[in-house]
Amino acid sequence: GKCELYHADMKLDNAGDKGLNFGSRTDIQTCTYWGAPIIWDGMFNPEVYDRTHTKDHTSVALTVFAVGRYLDVYLKDFLISAELHFMVGFPVTYYVFTDVPEKIPALKLASGRELKLMPVKRHSRWQDVSMMRMKSIRDAIDSCIQHNHQYVFCMDVDQVFRGRFGTEALGDSVALLHAHYYHRFRRMWTYDRNPKSQAYMADSQGDFYYHAAVFGGSWQSVKQITDTCYRTIMEDKKNRVEALWHDESHLNKYFWKHKPSKVLSPEYCWDTSIGYRSDIHIARLLWQEKQYDRLRGT
Ligand code: UDP
Ligand code: MN
Repeated sequence: GKCELYHADMKLDNAGDKGLNFGSRTDIQTCTYWGAPIIWDGMFNPEVYDRTHTKDHTSVALTVFAVGRYLDVYLKDFLISAELHFMVGFPVTYYVFTDVPEKIPALKLASGRELKLMPVKRHSRWQDVSMMRMKSIRDAIDSCIQHNHQYVFCMDVDQVFRGRFGTEALGDSVALLHAHYYHRFRRMWTYDRNPKSQAYMADSQGDFYYHAAVFGGSWQSVKQITDTCYRTIMEDKKNRVEALWHDESHLNKYFWKHKPSKVLSPEYCWDTSIGYRSDIHIARLLWQEKQYDRLRGT
């Protein structure tokens, strides 16, 4: 089945895409109503994507924050597993934002891949650490990323790669279906419901519930995403409100107003505590266990 185009002028990632076969999976939705592919295992040919991106000399920035104890607990496993599974064979720069640069683990990276340290100050509330990522990423795109990479992925550090997370995931603007909500009714989705917040969504609004642990796109799109979310977060601060799920609520509002050109299935950020699901053929990235006492305690 071919995907209908909703906006003729939208840069979608399926147009004539030889690497995609929308009909090869019939048990799940493989295309949004606005024409963006939803990437599931079995519907793409990884070699076609890799060939195209090799030809285009694609280079990817992966931003990750390891502030405070998150560095000790998660960063090493995240990076080691990324070397095995994330954009293998392509130039990748890890932009590691941290307040404890002296603790960065020494790792030997594959050729063409490097790690850039990005010092940040530590906000005392974890909610602020999470939300202020939007500003840091925007600034890094301005100062550095835009000159060196076509694409940017932004990820939480509390996860590990377990399968290919490759060039099929690249697109103009990329959002991820939240593992806990993709099969649930929209009334279960945890959008912000406070009309005073910039992240407010009415009951009738929203396409999917997206997970803020993974998003990405061209540097131009990620700059738009992070700049807008940072501005809406600051507007909320001025009005003394905070969205229910912080940056994730603002990101969901953004992707409601500006549809992503590609959507990743929950294979790309799976939580094994959900248990068996017949539609999940491979878990490419896994949530790590949350050790809140080690992370958020004093
Ligand atoms: N983070 C961090 N230090 C903190 C709080 C958050 O480095 O003290 C970063 C880290 O990359 C983390 C992300 O912000 O993965 C989002 O926070 P968290 O994973 O705790 O949010 P959750 O997944 O529980 O929504
Ligand atoms: Mn997380």
